[in-house]
Amino acid sequence: MKPLDKKDLIILEELIKDGRISLSDLAEKIKLSVPATATRVEKLVHNGIIENFTVNIDFSLLVDGKPNLILIKTDLKKAESLANTLFKERFIKKIYFTTGKYNLLLLTHYITDSQKSQLLSVIQSFDEVQDIDVLWLYDDLKAKSELVVDDLKSMKIICDYCKREFSGEIFSKVIGNKKRYFCCNTCLTEFEKRFAKEE
Ligand SMILES: [Zn+2]
Repeated sequence: MKPLDKKDLIILEELIKDGRISLSDLAEKIKLSVPATATRVEKLVHNGIIENFTVNIDFSLLVDGKPNLILIKTDLKKAESLANTLFKERFIKKIYFTTGKYNLLLLTHYITDSQKSQLLSVIQSFDEVQDIDVLWLYDDLKAKSELVVDDLKSMKIICDYCKREFSGEIFSKVIGNKKRYFCCNTCLTEFEKRFAKEE
């Protein structure tokens, strides 16, 4: 795949600001025809750069709670399986694998104190959890809707199935809670089959 160009970046920038921007407005910004603009947007969706079109909701107006960061120290070998188990908890929004004192960083949804206690007692019930720390995110500055791309990386990607480096069309799919990248549809299908067997 050709690396993205300036026009693609403008498309992404505009869509981050307003996901409802019309194709004709987008086309005007990048000085291309509407069909050509549509093709570019489709390509960005197809190769997985645009993951979905969604809304940002102000949860502080919806619920009483606040998001929390939960840090977990576990045996490095057990981090991935623990993460997959904890990911099933509905109050958890996102899990990061980290280096340093802790191996996992969990970001919760907006949750109340009692929901937090509930979640913590579930987490503490796992033997794999050696240590835990909780940060209550009590206030924040508004997130910026900006695209910060100073240097476009070359589109060299390792296929998650055949391990070949490729730069052509990307096939991506979330399998087992992780987004994977493949060089072709066959690799994607084979990976899925193997993954289902291992599960
Ligand atoms: Zn492959």
